Amino acid sequence: MKQEFKNIAVLGAGESGVGAALLAHSKGLNVFVSDKGSIKDSYKKELDQAGIEYEEGHHSVHLVLESDLIIKSPGIPEKVQLVQKAIEKRIPVISEIEFAGYYTNKKMICVTGSNGKTTTTMWIHHILKNAGVKCALAGNIGESLARQVIEDDVDYYVIELSSFQLDGMFDFKADIAVLLNITPDHLDRYNFEMQNYVDSKFRITQNLTENDWFVYNADDPIISKELAERAIAAQLAPFSIEKTEGMVGYVNNNQININIKPELTMSIHDLSLKGKHNTQNSLASGIASKIIEIRNESIKESLSDFKNVEHRLEFVAKVNGIEFINDSKATNVNSTWYALESMDKPTVWVVGGVDKGNDYDSLIPLVQEKVKAIVCLGKDNEKIKEAFAGCVDVIAEAGSAQEAVALGYRIAKDKETVLLSPACASFDLFENYEDRGAQFKAAVRAL
Ligand code: ADP
Repeated sequence: MKQEFKNIAVLGAGESGVGAALLAHSKGLNVFVSDKGSIKDSYKKELDQAGIEYEEGHHSVHLVLESDLIIKSPGIPEKVQLVQKAIEKRIPVISEIEFAGYYTNKKMICVTGSNGKTTTTMWIHHILKNAGVKCALAGNIGESLARQVIEDDVDYYVIELSSFQLDGMFDFKADIAVLLNITPDHLDRYNFEMQNYVDSKFRITQNLTENDWFVYNADDPIISKELAERAIAAQLAPFSIEKTEGMVGYVNNNQININIKPELTMSIHDLSLKGKHNTQNSLASGIASKIIEIRNESIKESLSDFKNVEHRLEFVAKVNGIEFINDSKATNVNSTWYALESMDKPTVWVVGGVDKGNDYDSLIPLVQEKVKAIVCLGKDNEKIKEAFAGCVDVIAEAGSAQEAVALGYRIAKDKETVLLSPACASFDLFENYEDRGAQFKAAVRAL
């Protein structure tokens, strides 16, 4: 535990910032919370009750720079002037997870990757919970780790880590680190340098010892290349859906195998979530659970009854034989690749939004094979129209979820699918991906 600081500034008063402030306060430290935007009433109430000072609408630079430790919300880029000034003054700038880590010795199962973090984190938590392990979810999901560390009454934390959180982590150590995949995303925060983003993801392995585990996707070319150049102290648990040799988790004859004694085998048809990406997620979840010695029967049961979170390849309804699927959380090309890959019927694909520098080339073969029509759902659809002009006969445009659903319903026939998997962020027409998914579902239900 770090002891040398007394005055803490917390930048950003969302769940992670407020959690960090409450934890710091409970440890007798002086805390000042500063948010440039507005703070939710419920959080203000909590800060008031604890007697923690805060401001909203601006940052009082001099106050923030008087602190000897800054806990920065992952949403605030390092580039902003205030953070740069703090770095110049050599004030450590850390993330809430790093701070929480100073005050707990509980076991940490940490999950990162460009896609599949939430699904896999929740799946591991589901397996542990069903097996009677005292555990809690943290990171991007639900209550912040810092808030939970105040009571610290579990044996395991299962933590979803984004690259932005990892960027503010230095001494934190996982017991089991899971890396699902690395594909381009958020490059605007990494000076458009892929290697910076890769380095950020690999921070999940920092401080691992030989008693810890590194679970990773051996099919991912970026991870493999990077591993050839890095020495990882932990025990390695690679998994693959393409090869078997040397793998701790793999697929053979439509069975998943986890090669940690006693070996676990299970038909992929019994997994509750379909698609290759979810087979990868199940391997990662199964390996993490086997490492902490959960019984095979219990793991198998939880791999077969886990229900996915909303907006991830979520079945919405079947209307006149047309199946509607909401994959609004697919905000980059790779997640949409897996969605299209798992389609087994002719598909009307609803795509578009805020393009994050997407390269659509990798989707072309799948679009040619599976997509009968494209409905663009964004303010500016030129790039999508250009990318897929030669692949499908029909490319329509919609200005709202309702219009997209109506078009999909008109174009699709019996035994076909309308898939919302945008490959883009949602902020042009919607508040966020949840809003986009909710509007899509509401429009389907109103048909
Ligand atoms: P994250 O928390 O990393 O954003 P989610 O579990 O919320 O990941 O899933 C985001 C999107 O990525 C969804 O569209 C989902 O279907 C897809 N997805 C889930 N797991 C994977 C994976 N292992 N590889 C690629 N895409 C995935």
